[in-house]
Amino acid sequence: MVYPCHFKGALVILAIDIGGTKIAAAHVVNGACIDRRQLPMPDTEAEFLQTIARLATGRPLPSGIAVAVTGYVNGDRVQSFNHKTISFWDGFPLIPRLAQLLGAPVVAINDAQAAAWGEYCLRKASCQDLLFMTLSTGVGGGLVLGGTLREGSHGLAGHIGHVAIDVPPIDAPSMCGCGRLGCLEAIASGTALARQASHRFGRSMTSSELLDSARGGDALALDIVQRASHAVASAIASAHAQLDLQVLVLGGSVGLAPNMLNWIESALHRYPAVYHVRVERATLGADAGMLGAAAWFQDQRGGDY
Ligand SMILES: [Zn+2]
Repeated sequence: MVYPCHFKGALVILAIDIGGTKIAAAHVVNGACIDRRQLPMPDTEAEFLQTIARLATGRPLPSGIAVAVTGYVNGDRVQSFNHKTISFWDGFPLIPRLAQLLGAPVVAINDAQAAAWGEYCLRKASCQDLLFMTLSTGVGGGLVLGGTLREGSHGLAGHIGHVAIDVPPIDAPSMCGCGRLGCLEAIASGTALARQASHRFGRSMTSSELLDSARGGDALALDIVQRASHAVASAIASAHAQLDLQVLVLGGSVGLAPNMLNWIESALHRYPAVYHVRVERATLGADAGMLGAAAWFQDQRGGDY
């Protein structure tokens, strides 16, 4: 796929995707990730900076650093919904630390916001109002309204995984990692699906095993997946009522699992027509965060780059 993110002349952008368990880095050249490398996410700040340095070693000196991060970016610091994800992350001054380490300007945004911007860039000829939702280990999101990525005053905008949902899980309501009961993430994330499946089947199960069983027609598995799909549809309908979306882009390993989009659309169409919004599969794949962050860097630094 040719991605619409082209930098002028010999500009070298180093894109970095920082997740809860891994860090990936690549150069983004003519819309593609080049020389992609990945290492585990370490537990301490010192090891984190060493890992970033290792990922940047042996590459051309970058003109800019585009970063997609788990958590959200408030000013020049990252903050976490779930404080257990990375021990040193909440309040970590990511942008100045990376700028000092790598000697280049840094632009950083939440990873789902980056993916939202990337998916929007592919659709901007026909779409101005888009919500991206990723169903994966957690549930994240990013919002583009009027052709502008909305980060919000504190970097929170689009975090649809932490909206309250009126659909209970099949097990006892579980506290979300953010510290609140009833969040979408606590019923429809991969982690929540695995938790409910393990409860229902009385043995340890992954979300992938659950989805396989549901597709195979297992009634117990289907009940869990359809309940989660109703929760996702409820969140989409509420977002559409607030934002008047043109498209909902669904991504993540759970969101892109076979038949998941059909289950969610079926649940959405149980609501009155005013709540219906077109749901499309995400297309940027595993590098969506890096590609979106690079495109966002270009947008933010467009005058200089
Ligand atoms: Zn939550």
